[in-house]
Amino acid sequence: MRAQRFSTVAAAAFMVLGLVACGDSGGDDTAAAPVDKKAAEAFPAGSRMKELADSGKIIVGTKFDQPLFGLKGLSGKPEGFDVKMAELIAGKLGISPDKIEFVETVSANREPFLQQKKVDMVIATYTINDKRDEVVDFAGPYFVAGQDILVAKGNPKKVTGPDALTGLNVCSVSGSTPASTIQTKYPQAKLVLFDNYTKCRDALGNGQVDAVTTDNVILSGYVDQAPDKYELVGKPFTQEPYGIGLPEGQEPFCDFINKVLADADKDGSYAKAFESTAGKVIKNTPKLPSPARGCAK
Ligand code: GLU
Repeated sequence: MRAQRFSTVAAAAFMVLGLVACGDSGGDDTAAAPVDKKAAEAFPAGSRMKELADSGKIIVGTKFDQPLFGLKGLSGKPEGFDVKMAELIAGKLGISPDKIEFVETVSANREPFLQQKKVDMVIATYTINDKRDEVVDFAGPYFVAGQDILVAKGNPKKVTGPDALTGLNVCSVSGSTPASTIQTKYPQAKLVLFDNYTKCRDALGNGQVDAVTTDNVILSGYVDQAPDKYELVGKPFTQEPYGIGLPEGQEPFCDFINKVLADADKDGSYAKAFESTAGKVIKNTPKLPSPARGCAK
């Protein structure tokens, strides 16, 4: 029931994102999100928001190797749109950016990290779907991507879309929705699995695989880093609505996050977060997908 409601939202929000090769890694150069120091006073006693606000810190699982969304570079701190979303939420809990502890999550360990409460939330190009929704909760979506294909510059194997992957070695990541889409819908492709997308990108770079498949926005970050080496096929063939993963049973916190996102969309801080990170490469600044899917199970 809920998935059905969500798919309408995703369809309405879905867009094919354009790219500009501006040679920028999509790092963050803006001031941190505002921190609401009085936040703790307003939260009901015993709520998750109050607990986090009182503790003054939050642990967030994110990607460390994905330009535009979560990339840990020389600064030692991950940067990207997912990181900005974490800062927005933390700010409304009265937690400053330097009190956010970012922990690397790869595709396969996001649910376990939430279930084991190793992290307070996961913001990591994390597609909301029914299977995951059985074991974790999702706020959002805050963005909708689409699965696409990365090939070597010049597209030597003439890949035009997923149907053209027959017999080719295609790399994706264990535990990801793109890997599962290839397994179930395009089994004629030879799927090669790694634990992160950088390994796939490097395997494409040295000719070990013919293509890499995952969300267009992740792949566009790799094209931006090395436009002479890689290109994007540019025809997204799934919808990947990104949610903020939470341990199960935190409905009020989930509602709170949806309100933070809606407010950020209204006051322009959502757009600013995008433009200062992924928007350096991805042309169209999205609106927050609306309405939110709701947190009740
Ligand atoms: N959004 C997809 C997923 O959550 C692919 C990207 C990723 O693996 O993080 O599985």
